[in-house]
Amino acid sequence: MQHHASKQQWLLKASFALCLLCIVIVLAMSSGSRYDYDDIMDRGTLKIITRNSFTTYYQDKDQPSGFEYELAKMFAQYLGVDLEVEVADTLEDLISEVESGNVAFAAAGLTVTDSRAERVRFASSYLDVTQKLVYRIDQKRPKKLADLAGKTLVVISHSSHAQYLRELQQNELPQLSWIEREDAEVAELVQMVENGEIDYTIVDSNEFDALSGFYPNVAGAMDLGDKQQLAWAFSKFSDNSLLNKSREFFQLVRETGLLSQLEERYYGHLNQIDNVGTLTFLRQADERLHRYQNLFEKEAETHEIDWRLLAAIGYQESHWKARARSRTGVRGLMMLTRSTAKEMGVQNRLNAEQSIRGGAAYFAKLKKRFDHIAEPDRTWIALAAYNVGAGHVKDAQKITQQRGGNPDRWMDVKESLPLLTQKKYYKKTQYGYARGYEPVEYVQNIRRFYDLLVWREQPEQNYTASSDSEDSFLTASGYRTIPPLTVVN
Ligand code: GLU
Repeated sequence: MQHHASKQQWLLKASFALCLLCIVIVLAMSSGSRYDYDDIMDRGTLKIITRNSFTTYYQDKDQPSGFEYELAKMFAQYLGVDLEVEVADTLEDLISEVESGNVAFAAAGLTVTDSRAERVRFASSYLDVTQKLVYRIDQKRPKKLADLAGKTLVVISHSSHAQYLRELQQNELPQLSWIEREDAEVAELVQMVENGEIDYTIVDSNEFDALSGFYPNVAGAMDLGDKQQLAWAFSKFSDNSLLNKSREFFQLVRETGLLSQLEERYYGHLNQIDNVGTLTFLRQADERLHRYQNLFEKEAETHEIDWRLLAAIGYQESHWKARARSRTGVRGLMMLTRSTAKEMGVQNRLNAEQSIRGGAAYFAKLKKRFDHIAEPDRTWIALAAYNVGAGHVKDAQKITQQRGGNPDRWMDVKESLPLLTQKKYYKKTQYGYARGYEPVEYVQNIRRFYDLLVWREQPEQNYTASSDSEDSFLTASGYRTIPPLTVVN
């Protein structure tokens, strides 16, 4: 009897436990489905998670920016809902937030890996990357994996790079060792290589392209492993409705060229200036810029232009030399032609104040000529006009249109400008031949100089993220960690 009663009790307990388990599963599934398409449409908000870095999400002046952020924002617009952004401290937090269904997906430059695919569901990939081993150029360049022995190699914990090293250790190089940093951001590790604090780090090629210009003493030693893909990661609990929407979205942004336009904005002007060019620029900014900074600021304010853009033009034109002169008779800090100087009321082109005033007014005037174009393309196109003349730029815009491109998109116009050197194109234009590759290089250089000036202004002391902002992207590190990319308004 005793035995029978305890068996009954046991059965009761077991069915109770089973019920509880069912409830937990149902709850887990229903909490996961909070981010299905219909729920998002009902709520009117798309909540995503990302991490802070220059290729994902960062503060540019006073507005959020970053390739991933802008892509996610476009997706939210496509759905017709608002975007809410959560920032994860570590890559592991990021994946587990997605896993547990607390966010719709992660847009964070995540590499698609087999082990991650067991935990999350990846959307269509939007970028191919390779892993780059980064070293300091005054050290011996490692050429094979065995050269890593005895050196300090640091990567981010739970990153695709850490995982790659683990596989390498298991399969080929049992003696391989490295350090993992939980809270580090990619730029911090590159900065540590730059400073000589560590020997190597591994970064994705898109990150390397975006970063290397800011760290003139580092270079890529070799590519590690095969090509990889970056993609958004969705929860496995959701019903695929949102994932399917994202597939439609990616197809659309690919077909319409919006994705390549975004890539151009973030990566298109990188690698324009080599390490020596960056070092020279930074040195001259330290030595010369202070003499003219007030003048740039004053004129920038008058015309509502970012002063750093004016300063970048000044550097590209004359390396901030008031008495600069070109072979063609263009003169002064902003390199005004005689006729432009006259038009802008500049009497003495060699006077820095007058030159900056005239240059700023001329640039503002050109911007007005292109005021139907959305930023930042308007700024790039006006800059091209500053260099080669508005007439030639208008010709290039016409050629762009004839070739099926968008004449108001810098990405397309920069393909057409060099065609002004070819007879079959320029003979049909109003203003004829122009060395059209020059304005392209000119604009790309200025974008780089502008980025460097913005970056140079960032404080080196510790940042304090304000506690009330959910989307605070400032890191707690002492480095200048978030080199901004060009987003001029
Ligand atoms: N793509 C890397 C990953 O998925 C993150 C970026 C990095 O650590 O460089 O882990």
